[in-house]
Amino acid sequence: MLDKQNQLEIWFLTGSQSLYGEEVLLQVAKQSQNVVNSMNESPSTSIRIVWKPVLTTAEDIKKTCMEASSNPNCIGVITWMHTFSPAKMWIAGLNALQVPLLHFHTQINSELPWESLDMDFMNLNQAAHGDREHGHIQARLNLPRKIIAGHESDPQVMSRIGNWIRAAVGWNEAQNLKLARFGDNMRYVAVTDGDKTSAQITLGVSIEAYGINELCAAVDRVAEDSITALVAEYEELYEVSSELVKGGARHSSLRYQAAIEIALEKFLIDGGFSAFTTNFEDLGNLKQLPGLAVQRLMAKGYGFGGEGDWKTSALLRIIKSMTQGLVGGSSFMEDYTYHFGPGEPKVLGAHMLEVCPTITDQRPKCEIHPLGIGGKDDPVRLVFNATPAHGCVVGLMDLGGRFRILSNDIEVVKPDKELKKLPVASAVWKPKPSLALSAESWIFAGGSHHTVLSTSLEIETLNDFANILNIEHLHISDTTVSQSFQDQIKWNGIYFKLSTTS
Ligand code: MN
Repeated sequence: MLDKQNQLEIWFLTGSQSLYGEEVLLQVAKQSQNVVNSMNESPSTSIRIVWKPVLTTAEDIKKTCMEASSNPNCIGVITWMHTFSPAKMWIAGLNALQVPLLHFHTQINSELPWESLDMDFMNLNQAAHGDREHGHIQARLNLPRKIIAGHESDPQVMSRIGNWIRAAVGWNEAQNLKLARFGDNMRYVAVTDGDKTSAQITLGVSIEAYGINELCAAVDRVAEDSITALVAEYEELYEVSSELVKGGARHSSLRYQAAIEIALEKFLIDGGFSAFTTNFEDLGNLKQLPGLAVQRLMAKGYGFGGEGDWKTSALLRIIKSMTQGLVGGSSFMEDYTYHFGPGEPKVLGAHMLEVCPTITDQRPKCEIHPLGIGGKDDPVRLVFNATPAHGCVVGLMDLGGRFRILSNDIEVVKPDKELKKLPVASAVWKPKPSLALSAESWIFAGGSHHTVLSTSLEIETLNDFANILNIEHLHISDTTVSQSFQDQIKWNGIYFKLSTTS
Protein backbone atom coordinates (compact mmCIF):
# COMPACT_ATOMS: atom_id res chain seq x y z
CA MET A 1 0.00 0.00 0.00
CA LEU A 2 2.86 2.36 0.76
CA ASP A 3 4.67 1.67 -2.50
CA LYS A 4 2.31 2.62 -5.30
CA GLN A 5 4.28 5.33 -7.08
CA ASN A 6 4.97 3.23 -10.18
CA GLN A 7 1.32 3.62 -11.22
CA LEU A 8 1.46 7.41 -11.14
CA GLU A 9 1.75 9.69 -14.19
CA ILE A 10 2.47 13.29 -15.09
CA TRP A 11 0.75 14.43 -18.28
CA PHE A 12 2.65 16.54 -20.79
CA LEU A 13 0.42 18.99 -22.70
CA THR A 14 1.74 20.73 -25.79
CA GLY A 15 -0.19 23.76 -26.99
CA SER A 16 -0.46 25.05 -30.56
CA GLN A 17 -3.17 26.27 -32.96
CA SER A 18 -4.64 25.09 -36.26
CA LEU A 19 -3.31 28.11 -38.24
CA TYR A 20 0.06 26.45 -38.72
CA GLY A 21 -1.31 23.68 -40.93
CA GLU A 22 -0.92 19.91 -40.83
CA GLU A 23 2.78 19.71 -41.66
CA VAL A 24 3.95 21.99 -38.85
CA LEU A 25 1.56 20.39 -36.34
CA LEU A 26 3.01 16.96 -37.17
CA GLN A 27 6.48 18.33 -36.46
CA VAL A 28 5.22 19.85 -33.20
CA ALA A 29 3.80 16.47 -32.18
CA LYS A 30 6.96 14.56 -33.08
CA GLN A 31 9.29 17.02 -31.41
CA SER A 32 7.25 17.30 -28.21
CA GLN A 33 7.27 13.49 -28.00
CA ASN A 34 11.06 13.65 -28.26
CA VAL A 35 11.18 16.13 -25.38
CA VAL A 36 9.04 13.79 -23.26
CA ASN A 37 11.19 10.77 -24.16
CA SER A 38 14.36 12.60 -23.11
CA MET A 39 12.74 13.76 -19.88
CA ASN A 40 11.73 10.18 -19.07
CA GLU A 41 15.34 9.04 -19.56
CA SER A 42 16.63 11.51 -16.96
CA PRO A 43 17.55 10.01 -13.57
CA SER A 44 15.76 13.00 -11.99
CA THR A 45 12.36 11.84 -13.27
CA SER A 46 10.84 9.55 -10.64
CA ILE A 47 7.35 9.41 -12.17
CA ARG A 48 6.55 8.55 -15.79
CA ILE A 49 5.73 11.55 -17.97
CA VAL A 50 2.97 10.74 -20.48
CA TRP A 51 2.78 12.63 -23.78
CA LYS A 52 -0.69 13.77 -24.87
CA PRO A 53 -1.73 14.77 -28.41
CA VAL A 54 -1.05 18.41 -29.35
CA LEU A 55 -3.87 20.74 -28.25
CA THR A 56 -5.20 23.26 -30.75
CA THR A 57 -8.76 24.04 -29.61
CA ALA A 58 -10.40 25.31 -26.41
CA GLU A 59 -12.66 22.23 -26.37
CA ASP A 60 -9.76 19.76 -26.47
CA ILE A 61 -7.83 21.74 -23.87
CA LYS A 62 -10.76 21.70 -21.44
CA LYS A 63 -11.46 18.02 -22.09
CA THR A 64 -7.82 17.05 -21.46
CA CYS A 65 -7.57 19.16 -18.30
CA MET A 66 -10.76 17.57 -16.96
CA GLU A 67 -9.45 14.09 -17.76
CA ALA A 68 -6.15 14.89 -16.02
CA SER A 69 -8.12 16.02 -12.96
CA SER A 70 -10.35 12.94 -12.80
CA ASN A 71 -7.76 10.26 -13.58
CA PRO A 72 -6.56 8.91 -10.19
CA ASN A 73 -3.10 8.11 -11.59
CA CYS A 74 -2.49 11.60 -13.01
CA ILE A 75 -0.83 13.69 -10.30
CA GLY A 76 0.12 16.75 -12.33
CA VAL A 77 0.45 18.33 -15.75
CA ILE A 78 3.35 19.98 -17.53
CA THR A 79 2.47 22.52 -20.22
CA TRP A 80 4.68 23.74 -23.08
CA MET A 81 3.80 26.03 -25.98
CA HIS A 82 6.25 24.87 -28.67
CA THR A 83 4.46 27.22 -31.08
CA PHE A 84 1.99 30.00 -30.35
CA SER A 85 -1.27 28.89 -28.68
CA PRO A 86 -3.63 31.83 -28.09
CA ALA A 87 -4.17 31.75 -24.35
CA LYS A 88 -7.89 32.57 -24.24
CA MET A 89 -8.28 28.98 -25.48
CA TRP A 90 -6.71 27.81 -22.20
CA ILE A 91 -8.95 29.71 -19.73
CA ALA A 92 -11.67 27.08 -19.32
CA GLY A 93 -9.20 24.21 -19.24
CA LEU A 94 -6.83 25.75 -16.71
CA ASN A 95 -9.80 26.78 -14.55
CA ALA A 96 -10.97 23.14 -14.54
CA LEU A 97 -7.54 21.79 -13.65
CA GLN A 98 -7.40 20.16 -10.20
CA VAL A 99 -3.84 18.80 -10.25
CA PRO A 100 -0.45 20.57 -9.79
CA LEU A 101 0.77 22.60 -12.76
CA LEU A 102 4.29 23.05 -14.12
CA HIS A 103 4.92 25.40 -17.03
CA PHE A 104 8.07 24.15 -18.76
CA HIS A 105 9.48 27.00 -20.82
CA THR A 106 11.74 25.17 -23.26
CA GLN A 107 12.66 24.53 -26.90
CA ILE A 108 13.35 21.41 -28.93
CA ASN A 109 16.83 22.72 -29.74
CA SER A 110 19.29 24.00 -27.20
CA GLU A 111 21.50 25.74 -29.75
CA LEU A 112 20.37 28.06 -32.56
CA PRO A 113 21.33 26.83 -36.06
CA TRP A 114 22.77 30.28 -36.75
CA GLU A 115 23.80 29.79 -40.33
CA SER A 116 20.82 27.80 -41.57
CA LEU A 117 18.24 29.73 -39.58
CA ASP A 118 15.30 30.53 -41.88
CA MET A 119 11.63 31.47 -41.52
CA ASP A 120 10.52 27.81 -41.40
CA PHE A 121 12.62 27.37 -38.28
CA MET A 122 11.28 30.62 -36.85
CA ASN A 123 7.71 29.50 -37.59
CA LEU A 124 8.17 26.25 -35.69
CA ASN A 125 10.27 27.34 -32.71
CA GLN A 126 8.25 30.06 -31.00
CA ALA A 127 8.23 29.10 -27.33
CA ALA A 128 10.08 32.30 -26.47
CA HIS A 129 6.85 34.21 -27.15
CA GLY A 130 4.32 31.34 -27.17
CA ASP A 131 5.12 30.50 -23.56
CA ARG A 132 4.90 34.18 -22.56
CA GLU A 133 1.33 34.31 -23.90
CA HIS A 134 0.63 31.08 -21.96
CA GLY A 135 2.25 32.45 -18.79
CA HIS A 136 0.14 35.59 -19.05
CA ILE A 137 -3.11 33.69 -18.69
CA GLN A 138 -1.75 31.59 -15.82
CA ALA A 139 -0.85 34.85 -14.09
CA ARG A 140 -4.28 36.37 -14.84
CA LEU A 141 -5.97 33.28 -13.39
CA ASN A 142 -3.61 33.48 -10.40
CA LEU A 143 -3.01 29.72 -10.53
CA PRO A 144 -0.67 27.94 -8.13
CA ARG A 145 2.08 27.01 -10.56
CA LYS A 146 5.78 26.45 -11.08
CA ILE A 147 7.71 27.84 -14.04
CA ILE A 148 10.99 26.27 -15.11
CA ALA A 149 12.95 27.70 -18.06
CA GLY A 150 15.75 25.81 -19.81
CA HIS A 151 16.59 22.77 -21.91
CA GLU A 152 15.99 19.14 -20.92
CA SER A 153 19.63 18.30 -21.72
CA ASP A 154 20.70 20.45 -18.75
CA PRO A 155 20.87 18.27 -15.59
CA GLN A 156 20.10 21.35 -13.46
CA VAL A 157 16.84 21.87 -15.33
CA MET A 158 15.90 18.21 -15.02
CA SER A 159 16.80 18.23 -11.34
CA ARG A 160 14.39 21.12 -10.76
CA ILE A 161 11.67 19.35 -12.75
CA GLY A 162 12.38 16.24 -10.67
CA ASN A 163 11.97 18.26 -7.49
CA TRP A 164 8.59 19.54 -8.68
CA ILE A 165 7.48 16.03 -9.66
CA ARG A 166 8.31 14.90 -6.11
CA ALA A 167 6.23 17.80 -4.76
CA ALA A 168 3.31 16.58 -6.90
CA VAL A 169 3.83 13.12 -5.39
CA GLY A 170 3.58 14.73 -1.93
CA TRP A 171 0.40 16.57 -2.93
CA ASN A 172 -1.12 13.33 -4.19
CA GLU A 173 -0.04 11.51 -1.03
CA ALA A 174 -1.64 14.18 1.17
CA GLN A 175 -4.89 14.03 -0.81
CA ASN A 176 -5.16 10.30 -0.12
CA LEU A 177 -3.57 10.09 3.32
CA LYS A 178 -5.48 8.40 6.14
CA LEU A 179 -3.98 8.79 9.61
CA ALA A 180 -4.91 6.73 12.71
CA ARG A 181 -4.59 8.37 16.12
CA PHE A 182 -4.42 6.16 19.18
CA GLY A 183 -5.70 8.43 21.91
CA ASP A 184 -5.75 12.21 21.80
CA ASN A 185 -2.99 14.81 22.00
CA MET A 186 -0.82 15.03 25.10
CA ARG A 187 -2.66 17.10 27.67
CA TYR A 188 -2.04 20.87 27.78
CA VAL A 189 0.40 20.87 24.81
CA ALA A 190 -0.39 23.66 22.32
CA VAL A 191 1.67 23.08 19.20
CA THR A 192 0.75 19.42 18.66
CA ASP A 193 -2.94 20.32 18.65
CA GLY A 194 -4.89 21.86 15.79
CA ASP A 195 -7.94 21.82 13.58
CA LYS A 196 -8.26 18.44 11.91
CA THR A 197 -11.11 19.54 9.66
CA SER A 198 -8.97 22.42 8.38
CA ALA A 199 -6.15 19.96 7.79
CA GLN A 200 -8.43 17.83 5.64
CA ILE A 201 -9.67 20.87 3.70
CA THR A 202 -6.16 22.26 3.16
CA LEU A 203 -4.02 19.14 2.83
CA GLY A 204 -6.58 16.42 2.15
CA VAL A 205 -5.41 14.33 5.13
CA SER A 206 -8.12 12.37 6.95
CA ILE A 207 -7.32 12.10 10.67
CA GLU A 208 -9.23 9.41 12.55
CA ALA A 209 -9.21 8.56 16.27
CA TYR A 210 -9.20 5.08 17.83
CA GLY A 211 -9.23 3.93 21.43
CA ILE A 212 -5.86 2.43 22.36
CA ASN A 213 -7.57 -0.70 23.69
CA GLU A 214 -8.52 -1.70 20.13
CA LEU A 215 -4.80 -2.03 19.55
CA CYS A 216 -4.25 -3.77 22.92
CA ALA A 217 -6.82 -6.41 22.02
CA ALA A 218 -5.11 -6.96 18.68
CA VAL A 219 -1.70 -7.29 20.39
CA ASP A 220 -3.09 -10.03 22.64
CA ARG A 221 -4.33 -11.94 19.59
CA VAL A 222 -0.97 -12.10 17.77
CA ALA A 223 0.11 -15.71 17.13
CA GLU A 224 3.24 -16.94 18.91
CA ASP A 225 4.86 -18.33 15.76
CA SER A 226 4.63 -14.98 13.94
CA ILE A 227 6.28 -13.34 16.99
CA THR A 228 9.07 -15.94 16.88
CA ALA A 229 9.65 -15.24 13.18
CA LEU A 230 9.82 -11.47 13.69
CA VAL A 231 12.19 -11.82 16.66
CA ALA A 232 14.49 -13.88 14.42
CA GLU A 233 14.46 -10.98 11.94
CA TYR A 234 15.42 -8.57 14.74
CA GLU A 235 18.36 -10.77 15.71
CA GLU A 236 19.55 -10.74 12.10
CA LEU A 237 19.22 -6.98 11.57
CA TYR A 238 20.26 -5.53 14.93
CA GLU A 239 22.77 -5.95 17.74
CA VAL A 240 20.20 -7.36 20.15
CA SER A 241 21.39 -7.10 23.76
CA SER A 242 22.08 -10.40 25.54
CA GLU A 243 19.20 -9.97 28.00
CA LEU A 244 16.73 -9.68 25.09
CA VAL A 245 17.85 -12.58 22.88
CA LYS A 246 16.23 -15.99 23.08
CA GLY A 247 17.17 -17.48 26.42
CA GLY A 248 17.94 -14.02 27.86
CA ALA A 249 16.30 -12.86 31.10
CA ARG A 250 14.10 -10.27 29.36
CA HIS A 251 13.35 -12.05 26.08
CA SER A 252 9.62 -11.82 26.77
CA SER A 253 9.87 -7.99 26.58
CA LEU A 254 11.26 -8.26 23.05
CA ARG A 255 8.49 -10.66 22.11
CA TYR A 256 5.89 -8.27 23.47
CA GLN A 257 7.29 -5.37 21.40
CA ALA A 258 7.22 -7.68 18.34
CA ALA A 259 3.55 -8.41 19.04
CA ILE A 260 2.90 -4.64 19.10
CA GLU A 261 4.59 -4.28 15.71
CA ILE A 262 2.61 -7.10 14.12
CA ALA A 263 -0.73 -5.91 15.52
CA LEU A 264 -0.07 -2.26 14.70
CA GLU A 265 1.00 -2.94 11.13
CA LYS A 266 -2.04 -5.14 10.53
CA PHE A 267 -4.29 -2.43 11.95
CA LEU A 268 -2.77 0.16 9.61
CA ILE A 269 -2.93 -2.08 6.53
CA ASP A 270 -6.51 -3.19 7.20
CA GLY A 271 -7.66 0.41 7.66
CA GLY A 272 -5.70 1.84 4.71
CA PHE A 273 -3.64 4.06 7.04
CA SER A 274 -0.18 5.31 6.12
CA ALA A 275 0.49 7.37 9.26
CA PHE A 276 -0.35 7.14 12.97
CA THR A 277 0.20 8.65 16.39
CA THR A 278 0.54 7.29 19.91
CA ASN A 279 0.41 9.02 23.29
CA PHE A 280 2.44 7.77 26.24
CA GLU A 281 -0.14 9.28 28.62
CA ASP A 282 -2.81 7.00 27.20
CA LEU A 283 -1.50 3.48 26.69
CA GLY A 284 -4.54 1.62 28.09
CA ASN A 285 -3.62 -2.01 28.70
CA LEU A 286 -0.46 -1.87 26.56
CA LYS A 287 2.43 -3.05 28.72
CA GLN A 288 5.12 -1.03 26.89
CA LEU A 289 5.20 2.19 24.96
CA PRO A 290 5.61 1.19 21.29
CA GLY A 291 9.30 1.93 20.61
CA LEU A 292 11.05 -0.58 18.37
CA ALA A 293 7.66 -1.21 16.70
CA VAL A 294 7.23 2.46 15.79
CA GLN A 295 10.85 2.78 14.65
CA ARG A 296 10.46 -0.15 12.28
CA LEU A 297 7.14 1.05 10.89
CA MET A 298 8.67 4.48 10.19
CA ALA A 299 11.49 2.69 8.35
CA LYS A 300 8.85 0.93 6.24
CA GLY A 301 7.49 4.34 5.21
CA TYR A 302 4.75 5.09 7.74
CA GLY A 303 4.35 8.57 9.17
CA PHE A 304 4.52 8.87 12.95
CA GLY A 305 4.11 11.56 15.60
CA GLY A 306 4.52 11.10 19.34
CA GLU A 307 2.14 12.54 21.96
CA GLY A 308 -0.75 12.57 19.49
CA ASP A 309 1.09 14.85 17.07
CA TRP A 310 -0.89 14.14 13.92
CA LYS A 311 0.56 17.09 11.99
CA THR A 312 4.16 15.86 12.25
CA SER A 313 3.00 12.32 11.55
CA ALA A 314 1.27 13.40 8.33
CA LEU A 315 4.25 15.55 7.37
CA LEU A 316 6.64 12.61 7.87
CA ARG A 317 4.54 10.36 5.63
CA ILE A 318 4.33 13.09 2.97
CA ILE A 319 8.11 13.70 3.11
CA LYS A 320 8.82 9.96 2.95
CA SER A 321 6.64 9.73 -0.16
CA MET A 322 8.36 12.75 -1.78
CA THR A 323 11.84 11.32 -1.14
CA GLN A 324 11.19 7.71 -2.07
CA GLY A 325 14.25 6.16 -3.72
CA LEU A 326 16.64 8.97 -2.72
CA VAL A 327 19.79 8.59 -0.63
CA GLY A 328 19.34 9.37 3.08
CA GLY A 329 16.27 9.09 5.25
CA SER A 330 13.58 10.92 7.21
CA SER A 331 12.51 10.61 10.82
CA PHE A 332 10.23 12.00 13.47
CA MET A 333 12.49 14.25 15.58
CA GLU A 334 12.48 16.56 18.56
CA ASP A 335 14.91 19.34 19.43
CA TYR A 336 16.00 17.97 22.78
CA THR A 337 19.00 19.73 24.24
CA TYR A 338 21.86 22.09 23.22
CA HIS A 339 25.61 22.23 23.16
CA PHE A 340 26.34 25.99 23.28
CA GLY A 341 30.11 25.42 23.43
CA PRO A 342 33.06 25.05 23.62
CA GLY A 343 33.42 24.62 19.87
CA GLU A 344 30.60 25.04 17.41
CA PRO A 345 27.11 25.17 18.91
CA LYS A 346 24.93 22.14 18.13
CA VAL A 347 21.48 20.68 18.72
CA LEU A 348 21.03 17.19 20.09
CA GLY A 349 17.77 15.80 18.77
CA ALA A 350 16.09 12.62 19.94
CA HIS A 351 12.79 11.41 21.32
CA MET A 352 11.71 9.15 24.12
CA LEU A 353 12.20 6.22 21.72
CA GLU A 354 10.77 6.94 18.30
CA VAL A 355 13.57 7.83 15.88
CA CYS A 356 13.59 6.21 12.43
CA PRO A 357 16.67 4.10 11.55
CA THR A 358 16.64 5.37 7.92
CA ILE A 359 18.79 8.30 9.10
CA THR A 360 21.70 6.06 10.09
CA ASP A 361 24.16 3.76 8.35
CA GLN A 362 24.99 2.11 11.67
CA ARG A 363 23.74 -1.32 12.61
CA PRO A 364 21.30 -0.30 15.38
CA LYS A 365 21.54 -1.75 18.85
CA CYS A 366 18.30 -3.23 20.21
CA GLU A 367 18.11 -2.53 23.93
CA ILE A 368 15.74 -2.26 26.87
CA HIS A 369 15.86 0.53 29.45
CA PRO A 370 13.43 2.23 31.83
CA LEU A 371 11.42 5.11 30.34
CA GLY A 372 11.23 7.10 33.58
CA ILE A 373 7.79 8.43 32.63
CA GLY A 374 4.35 6.91 32.09
CA GLY A 375 4.55 4.09 34.67
CA LYS A 376 4.67 1.16 32.23
CA ASP A 377 7.09 -1.73 31.66
CA ASP A 378 10.50 -0.87 30.23
CA PRO A 379 10.18 -0.51 26.46
CA VAL A 380 12.44 -2.09 23.84
CA ARG A 381 14.02 0.36 21.38
CA LEU A 382 16.69 0.75 18.70
CA VAL A 383 19.70 2.88 19.67
CA PHE A 384 21.97 4.60 17.10
CA ASN A 385 23.40 7.96 16.02
CA ALA A 386 22.32 9.65 12.80
CA THR A 387 24.93 9.54 10.03
CA PRO A 388 26.54 12.91 9.14
CA ALA A 389 24.89 14.48 6.08
CA HIS A 390 23.33 17.67 4.75
CA GLY A 391 19.72 17.81 5.79
CA CYS A 392 16.83 19.85 7.05
CA VAL A 393 14.27 19.88 9.81
CA VAL A 394 10.68 20.72 8.94
CA GLY A 395 7.73 21.66 11.13
CA LEU A 396 4.02 22.05 10.36
CA MET A 397 2.00 24.37 12.56
CA ASP A 398 -1.68 25.28 12.77
CA LEU A 399 -1.84 29.06 13.25
CA GLY A 400 -5.58 29.14 13.87
CA GLY A 401 -6.85 30.13 10.42
CA ARG A 402 -4.18 28.53 8.28
CA PHE A 403 -1.09 26.31 8.32
CA ARG A 404 2.60 27.23 8.26
CA ILE A 405 5.50 25.07 7.12
CA LEU A 406 8.84 26.01 8.63
CA SER A 407 12.16 24.52 7.55
CA ASN A 408 15.78 24.90 8.56
CA ASP A 409 18.88 23.72 6.70
CA ILE A 410 21.10 21.66 8.98
CA GLU A 411 24.34 19.73 8.91
CA VAL A 412 24.08 16.43 10.73
CA VAL A 413 27.43 15.85 12.45
CA LYS A 414 29.10 13.33 14.72
CA PRO A 415 28.63 13.87 18.45
CA ASP A 416 31.71 15.60 19.92
CA LYS A 417 32.18 12.61 22.20
CA GLU A 418 30.66 9.16 22.36
CA LEU A 419 27.14 9.18 23.90
CA LYS A 420 27.90 6.22 26.13
CA LYS A 421 24.92 6.54 28.45
CA LEU A 422 22.21 7.82 26.12
CA PRO A 423 19.71 4.93 25.86
CA VAL A 424 17.86 6.26 22.79
CA ALA A 425 18.59 6.98 19.12
CA SER A 426 19.75 10.53 18.47
CA ALA A 427 20.95 13.02 15.88
CA VAL A 428 23.40 15.87 16.43
CA TRP A 429 23.31 18.79 14.02
CA LYS A 430 24.52 22.30 13.36
CA PRO A 431 21.60 24.44 12.24
CA LYS A 432 22.14 27.15 9.57
CA PRO A 433 23.08 29.95 9.74
CA SER A 434 23.96 29.48 13.44
CA LEU A 435 22.32 27.88 16.45
CA ALA A 436 21.37 31.30 17.85
CA LEU A 437 19.85 32.76 14.68
CA SER A 438 18.18 29.47 13.76
CA ALA A 439 16.58 29.11 17.20
CA GLU A 440 15.56 32.79 17.38
CA SER A 441 13.96 32.63 13.91
CA TRP A 442 12.28 29.28 14.56
CA ILE A 443 10.83 30.49 17.85
CA PHE A 444 9.72 33.83 16.37
CA ALA A 445 7.84 31.86 13.70
CA GLY A 446 6.09 29.80 16.39
CA GLY A 447 7.85 26.65 15.17
CA SER A 448 7.13 23.28 16.73
CA HIS A 449 9.51 21.27 18.94
CA HIS A 450 8.52 18.18 16.96
CA THR A 451 9.88 18.11 13.42
CA VAL A 452 10.69 15.82 10.55
CA LEU A 453 14.45 15.51 10.14
CA SER A 454 15.33 14.56 6.58
CA THR A 455 18.66 13.93 4.91
CA SER A 456 17.03 13.28 1.54
CA LEU A 457 14.53 16.11 1.06
CA GLU A 458 15.38 19.02 -1.27
CA ILE A 459 14.04 22.34 0.01
CA GLU A 460 12.84 23.14 -3.53
CA THR A 461 10.52 20.12 -3.34
CA LEU A 462 9.15 21.27 0.01
CA ASN A 463 8.68 24.79 -1.34
CA ASP A 464 6.90 23.51 -4.46
CA PHE A 465 4.66 21.36 -2.24
CA ALA A 466 3.73 24.39 -0.12
CA ASN A 467 3.03 26.48 -3.24
CA ILE A 468 0.77 23.80 -4.73
CA LEU A 469 -1.37 23.94 -1.57
CA ASN A 470 -0.99 27.70 -1.00
CA ILE A 471 0.50 27.05 2.45
CA GLU A 472 3.11 29.45 3.80
CA HIS A 473 6.66 28.09 3.78
CA LEU A 474 9.35 29.88 5.76
CA HIS A 475 12.90 28.65 5.23
CA ILE A 476 15.80 29.34 7.58
CA SER A 477 19.09 28.98 5.72
CA ASP A 478 22.64 30.27 5.45
CA THR A 479 21.31 33.53 4.01
CA THR A 480 18.68 34.20 6.69
CA VAL A 481 18.85 37.66 8.24
CA SER A 482 16.90 38.09 11.46
CA GLN A 483 15.07 41.33 10.67
CA SER A 484 14.16 40.33 7.08
CA PHE A 485 12.88 36.98 8.33
CA GLN A 486 10.64 38.67 10.88
CA ASP A 487 9.44 41.19 8.27
CA GLN A 488 8.63 38.32 5.88
CA ILE A 489 6.43 36.75 8.54
CA LYS A 490 4.56 40.04 9.01
CA TRP A 491 4.04 40.59 5.25
CA ASN A 492 2.99 36.98 4.75
CA GLY A 493 0.44 37.45 7.55
CA ILE A 494 -1.23 40.21 5.54
CA TYR A 495 -1.10 38.18 2.31
CA PHE A 496 -2.71 35.13 3.86
CA LYS A 497 -5.39 37.22 5.61
CA LEU A 498 -6.34 38.75 2.26
CA SER A 499 -6.07 35.55 0.24
CA THR A 500 -8.05 33.34 2.63
CA THR A 501 -11.68 33.12 1.60
CA SER A 502 -13.19 32.14 4.95
MN1 MN B 1 7.76 14.76 22.01
